[in-house]
Amino acid sequence: MKVAVTKVDSYNETLVAQGISHALKQLGGINNFVSPGDRVLIKPNMLEGMPPAKATTTHPEVVRAVIRQVKSAGGLPIIGDSPGINGTKKVAEQCGILEICRQEDVELYEFQKTSEYAYPQGLTLKRFTLCDVLEKVDKVISVAKMKTHSFMGITGAVKNLFGLFVGTDKAQFHLRMKARHDFAGMLVDLTGLVKPVLSIVDGITGMEGNGPRNGQPRYAGIILAGANAFAVDLVMARIMGFEAEKMPVAARALAAGLAPRLEDIEVIGSGKSVKLEFKQPYTLESIEGRLPSRLVKLGQEQLTQKPQIANSCIGCARCAQHCPPDAIKIVNNRAVIDYQKCIRCYCCQELCPADAVKLKSGFLLKTVRKLTKH
Ligand code: SF4
Ligand code: SF4
Repeated sequence: MKVAVTKVDSYNETLVAQGISHALKQLGGINNFVSPGDRVLIKPNMLEGMPPAKATTTHPEVVRAVIRQVKSAGGLPIIGDSPGINGTKKVAEQCGILEICRQEDVELYEFQKTSEYAYPQGLTLKRFTLCDVLEKVDKVISVAKMKTHSFMGITGAVKNLFGLFVGTDKAQFHLRMKARHDFAGMLVDLTGLVKPVLSIVDGITGMEGNGPRNGQPRYAGIILAGANAFAVDLVMARIMGFEAEKMPVAARALAAGLAPRLEDIEVIGSGKSVKLEFKQPYTLESIEGRLPSRLVKLGQEQLTQKPQIANSCIGCARCAQHCPPDAIKIVNNRAVIDYQKCIRCYCCQELCPADAVKLKSGFLLKTVRKLTKH
């Protein structure tokens, strides 16, 4: 199994097109993945309407290059996602993807209607309610962003597919699946159901630290591509400097025999030797695995970072609208968290437009970090 890693210096239109073309040629060319007449959903990461320089969303030039590749194979591309907040069109406009759709004359499909999809072999879920776009296309290409993720460690080709859940259905999963193991299992099932034919990751500038929204842009200068989404994410995580096979999704996919071992992946291309050290997100989950599991369970409350509202809160209520257990109220134009209800999903931190949700470590968590040198 091959994963191509190509060095791409910047988001210059020509360089990105060349980089993606080069990566795909090493995988046999776009015609290996798309046939004439195929309707192809190109699924970028459009988490929120942020400018491309924030590195929150897939860069529009990467989306443009993939559109042109699909067209060159005779495919009919559609762009779509369901952002965390606001509508698809507004977010696409803010992150520059709507303009690319206009310039390339491609439909932006708003994820609003849902359909039911059975997946009897699922590890965690046997039935999914997802956007109806899957009924309208023949193939899916995941075009993700290389980022850290406070709950899943990393977000790449696999987690990008979570956007196929429509609107607030996503937040409800944090209530239903509070354990990392379960949430990761659901993502493994989702990937098995959707079966993206190709996964491309925009790693020219990724995000480190408290991703997927509140981290810092981190230049990496690469594009990754491969036919197996798990393999692409494994290679991506290793490049980021993480223990790739211990990432929750990878661990579950490996245990189920759905992902290859890192040693069985042939990494090819000009970026195959790139090795970086991305800053990890500070969460309990990022130190889990280095501690005895009994200690983790015993001190779950104490060992988890608490979301706290900073003075920069503007009282917009986005966090309250999307908090899965309804733990946030707006009082005197400011968010107030009920910690008895809070499940530490960090959706509020992910969605806050004012960066007003800070994750605070208690004494015990700080001590554990020192002991584990996190
Ligand atoms: S914490 Fe952020 S999302 Fe919540 S009300 Fe304040 S500014 Fe809005
Ligand atoms: S307060 Fe924030 S971290 Fe707690 S449950 Fe609500 S969204 Fe999740």
